[in-house]
Amino acid sequence: MKCDRCGEEIPSEEEMEYHEQTLCEVCYMRALSPVKACNPWAVRSAQVLSQMSGGDVHLSETQEEILTVLAETGGLETAELAERLRIKIIDLEVELATLRHMEKTRGEMRGSKKVVCLW
Ligand SMILES: [Zn+2]
Repeated sequence: MKCDRCGEEIPSEEEMEYHEQTLCEVCYMRALSPVKACNPWAVRSAQVLSQMSGGDVHLSETQEEILTVLAETGGLETAELAERLRIKIIDLEVELATLRHMEKTRGEMRGSKKVVCLW
C-alpha cells in the first residue's frame, strides 16, 4: 500500500485511514490538527534537537525572544505575547508547543486567564 499523499510505501501496521485516503503515519499526523499542546512532532523535534546538541538545546531567535519577554513580564496570555513579538498566534503556538516540551515554558491559570510563563 502506498501513501496517498507522499507516495511512500507504508508498512501495513502503519496504514492510517483519513477521509477515505490511506496515509502513512507521517502524513496522517500532519493531516490532523498541526498545532496542539500535545503535538507529537513538537516532542519529536525537541528530542531530536536535544540529541543533536547533546542536551544543550539550541533555541530559535523567536523562541529566545519568547523566553525573554516571559522573563520580563512574568507571564502573558498567548494573544498578548503574539502581539508583543509581532507574530501570528498560530506561529506562536508552534513555538510554544516546542518550548513546552523542552520544559522551558508552561501554561498557568490566573483567575480566568490562561497565561504562558516560564517553567
Ligand atoms: Zn505519507
